[in-house]
Amino acid sequence: MEKIVALCKRRGFIYPGSEIYGGLTGTWDYGPLGSELKRNIKNEWWKSMVGLRSDVVGIDAAIMMNPQVWRSSGHLEAFTDPLVECLVCHQRFRADKREEIAGHENSHKAEGLPAGRQVEWTSPKKFNLLVEAELGVVEGEKQKVYLRGEITQGAFVNFENVVSSNRVKIPFGIAQIGKAFRNEITPGNFTYRSREFEQMELEFFVRPEKEEGDKWFDYWKKERLEWYKSLGLTESKLRFRKHEDSERAHYAKYAEDIEFEAPFGWSEFEGIHHRGDWDLSRHKLGYMDDQGQKFTPWVIETSGGVDRSALFFLLNAYQDDSKRVWLKLHPRLAPYKVAVFPLLANKQELVEKARSIYDSLKPSFMTAWDDRGNIGKRYLSQDEAGTPWCVTVDFQTLEDDTVTVRDRDTAEQERVKVSELAAFVAKKLE
Ligand code: ATP
Repeated sequence: MEKIVALCKRRGFIYPGSEIYGGLTGTWDYGPLGSELKRNIKNEWWKSMVGLRSDVVGIDAAIMMNPQVWRSSGHLEAFTDPLVECLVCHQRFRADKREEIAGHENSHKAEGLPAGRQVEWTSPKKFNLLVEAELGVVEGEKQKVYLRGEITQGAFVNFENVVSSNRVKIPFGIAQIGKAFRNEITPGNFTYRSREFEQMELEFFVRPEKEEGDKWFDYWKKERLEWYKSLGLTESKLRFRKHEDSERAHYAKYAEDIEFEAPFGWSEFEGIHHRGDWDLSRHKLGYMDDQGQKFTPWVIETSGGVDRSALFFLLNAYQDDSKRVWLKLHPRLAPYKVAVFPLLANKQELVEKARSIYDSLKPSFMTAWDDRGNIGKRYLSQDEAGTPWCVTVDFQTLEDDTVTVRDRDTAEQERVKVSELAAFVAKKLE
């Protein structure tokens, strides 16, 4: 974990938020490489969930919504975590995070408590996670609004809009990607638990029948797991975990998490939730089928975190064989697909030829340029960034119009005709 955090900062994947002013707990800024990685994850998700399907449409709803949305959805009342306060130092923790509490108690014990003193805690209080903001221009008359705690509600409040303005029929889904905000009691584990983060969610509407609900719940569980595997997450580091009755969210009939084996233990990064008719009925929304039958559909939700996925893709990709460190990211997720180098930076003909190759690849692929140091150092630098292919222009290029293409994972090189380079990269990305 420490190596990944350091690499992320050093190479421009992820920086602490507002760092020059001492940071802001629970916020992170994605740098040039991190923002590409995140964009690639979101694009792949959108392509598989919307672009390639005929039963899902996308939306992009506002972050700030009428507060009545949160009253109706139950979030004002029930979007809470149990909070306890340490009576020794007044730090606050989530009562259900037993390991964090035990760790905190141990740190007090190691510091040495006054004789006879135990670490004591307040009894758990409900703590609402919604972040509040104020809107309006007249002081004293500002309206309290909430920054959305989950992006989900935007899909529900627009359900009838989507049905009436599109040719969609149940079963169908509404997909969305966007920011969510939670006043988390204990942000931590790098970006894993942040106060501002991005979600990628599907709300899939089905007939309110047990068989339909169960069928689609199982279907989406499989689809989502396969998607993560298809982008390189190691199968043995993935598992499903069923929610116990006591931990299920207020809206869920049943729920299962997809977990990844992170350095800090098995951790959720996507939830598959059977929300029943909770949300649509709370918003008093319904559906009429072709036979004129009216009903409130049930919802199967897949709710993934972009930031948690990005972190797990990075952790999963990290490779170190003591000679070099490389990120074995799936090429479609890699920030740069290809890097182009002139063998020598002071040979005009090589630089010009390399520049023309760089210019020809750049419109189609995220392409990096490097002419610093020697070739070995440039390879190491691209390995750490996860760039799958490095193209070197050497003296042979000037004679036969071929370049060496070096593979990130095997470090092997092959010669490819310049005229076939774009097709070579495109084929590998298919
Ligand atoms: P946790 O139990 O870890 O707090 P949750 O069960 O509350 O998570 P959901 O409400 O199911 O999470 O949210 C769906 C997804 O949104 C999560 O699987 C995760 O990927 C992402 N997510 C939720 N909270 C955070 C957060 N604080 N920081 C980053 N991602 C988050």
